[in-house]
Amino acid sequence: MNFPRFIHIRLQTISAPVALNIKIVAEEIDKIFPSCKIDFKPSFIYDEKIIEQAKIIDLKQPFERQRNQEQGSSGSDMLETPLYDGFVMQRVFAEMIPNSEMSLEHIHIIFTALLPCTFSEDDWRYHGRAVICGTPSIISTTGIVEALARPREYYLSQLGSITEDTANLKKKFAGRFIDYDDEEKITAAAINYVLQAIFFFIGEGEPFCSDSDCSLFNAHWQEDLIHTIEKRTLCTYHRNMANKFS
Ligand SMILES: [Zn+2]
Repeated sequence: MNFPRFIHIRLQTISAPVALNIKIVAEEIDKIFPSCKIDFKPSFIYDEKIIEQAKIIDLKQPFERQRNQEQGSSGSDMLETPLYDGFVMQRVFAEMIPNSEMSLEHIHIIFTALLPCTFSEDDWRYHGRAVICGTPSIISTTGIVEALARPREYYLSQLGSITEDTANLKKKFAGRFIDYDDEEKITAAAINYVLQAIFFFIGEGEPFCSDSDCSLFNAHWQEDLIHTIEKRTLCTYHRNMANKFS
């Protein structure tokens, strides 16, 4: 089997600093896959005109219907955090990868603060994502904060008392959700998502695990994600799989 030997990591930068320690991410991945070479590529600034192609204007329309919408709504931005179609982003970023690094020996990971999303035909709408696996895999720090649900009680408190401001609410639920400035948790979560991006290839397209303690658990709630980052472990099955390659 053609096992990945190189993991290329890149950061797509924007003007605001991102609370993420890539060095720690690389160190942890190196411990799990010591036979892989981790390579930092220089970070890059996204070309707004190019990434604009991937922008979603209407959450309830699949990508091919987005452009018509734009003409109708004169391009007004209705979404608070702009969303970008994850697979279109992937195509845009893939153009930066040299041909010599397109084989299965290479895994490409791009960290970004942009929020990728994918369209679901189940409920016919877009959903924000923390990770899009593939070539390259895209891991979003904004997705880590926004794409997973906060504790149910958080939303209930928000509804219950209009007077309760966001700062108070955040204080009340401290430790139970992940915020933009929480470098420690965002970094720990990023390690999980890099593992998912790697297992997407070595696990033949199935990066997720049903064990809620395993780093590959597909968390939909931030509390579940926090649980896995506190456990910081792979289940026996995935641990063995990682060891086989090392
Ligand atoms: Zn597992």
